[in-house]
Amino acid sequence: MIVMKFGGSSVANADRIRHIAEIVREYRDHRPVVVLSAMGDTTDDLFEAAEQALHGHVVLDKIEKLHLDTVKALEIPHEEVTRRLNELRTLLTGISMLKEITPRSRDYLVSFGERLSVRIFSAYLNTINIRSEFQDSWDIGFISDSNYNNAELLPETYETIRKTLGSYASGKKDDGKAIPVVTGFLALDKKGFITTLGRGGSDLTATVIGASLRAEEVQTWKDVDGILTADPRIVPEAHSVPVATYDEVAELAYFGAQVLHPRSMRPCLQTGTPVRVKNSYNISAPGSIIVTKHTEKVPPVRAITTKQNVTLVDIVSTRMLGQYGFLAKVFEIFAAHEVSVDVVATSEVSVSLTVDEKTEELSSLRRDLAKFAEVTIRKDKAIVTIICDVRRSSQILAQTFKVLALKKINIQMISQGASKVNISMICNSSEAVRVVRLLHQEYFGSDSTVLTNTSGGKK
Ligand code: ASP
Ligand code: MG
Repeated sequence: MIVMKFGGSSVANADRIRHIAEIVREYRDHRPVVVLSAMGDTTDDLFEAAEQALHGHVVLDKIEKLHLDTVKALEIPHEEVTRRLNELRTLLTGISMLKEITPRSRDYLVSFGERLSVRIFSAYLNTINIRSEFQDSWDIGFISDSNYNNAELLPETYETIRKTLGSYASGKKDDGKAIPVVTGFLALDKKGFITTLGRGGSDLTATVIGASLRAEEVQTWKDVDGILTADPRIVPEAHSVPVATYDEVAELAYFGAQVLHPRSMRPCLQTGTPVRVKNSYNISAPGSIIVTKHTEKVPPVRAITTKQNVTLVDIVSTRMLGQYGFLAKVFEIFAAHEVSVDVVATSEVSVSLTVDEKTEELSSLRRDLAKFAEVTIRKDKAIVTIICDVRRSSQILAQTFKVLALKKINIQMISQGASKVNISMICNSSEAVRVVRLLHQEYFGSDSTVLTNTSGGKK
């Protein structure tokens, strides 16, 4: 069996729904379990509706119109959808009268997005003769703690999913069983209240189902060609990475590449279930597969990413050389101010690190650090990261710096990540795009030399 997850933009309107229904048809023999997000921006719109209700206004027009228009265009029965929309209106009216909302009722409110989308999609599949059944995720076993808005699934979820979907998953090709279409993002707590799994949580729903049922693979369908060698807005000729490891994807996700959140990959990482990122506009392309470790030979450089707008903090100890406890003290202060650090490089008496430029605590942080160190703060920097096999770091660094030196680009700090899959460099924000393009050309361009130079798989 496989799990097929479609995000909000893949179900944004009737046309998109028709399109992905055909994709599901293609994979019908693979016994898919389908997981959906809310249509388009519905989750955001529901949060917005909650805000409006708190100010006494019931604003539901956009959400209602989108769902009713879709029902009409797809020519499916409207009762299920109308009933949910009425329930939603009642809820918003209640909030608007009380002018009060709890985390629990907010989860109940945003759950309508996914609950509506699965009803619509499943009804549509049935009208085109693909037997299907919508499922609110709790009906197949999704049970969580009561940490509303960001709930954690309870371990028994896995076992219950096997009980509820096991026979579908292991069934025979033409046994006529209905394809389950499951709400992403949602669960129920032990008290029976709806919870949500955090923004982007539908991916987690998909990987939990995939891991429970030991799926052949979990497919997450996007509008781009899987994982790319660089952000296509920076490097238009970026192409897809056929195979990446969970570690590499975690680094990419951190740098804002639109892949999967590391949290949502964990269930499949534990069972070794492959996750495949596919392009709904390019169905036959293999996309990118995420695996626990490389077994085939792959080029040493996988992707180049950048994170703009960071601030570089240089901290030089004013105490004696060789004194212990310097780093401990530095990080203690960062922890006390709750400032998260991205990239770090150290020497005996100094440490350089980057923080997000929006960090508000910077001046108080500086004051505390200044008690035992000289502090220089440099703004408008960017991190450029090479996701690569760091066992080849000497070669990669030599090649990288040769290119950058030739173009007179100065790198202000460099750090090789402990995850063994990344080398990060700090440059001026204004130069970041150029650096990414130069390196992409060097490692992936037509005259690249490194691509032919493959490295073995095992770590
Ligand atoms: N609809 C939810 C969100 O927008 C969950 C998801 O899309 O994964 O965050
Ligand atoms: Mg969404």
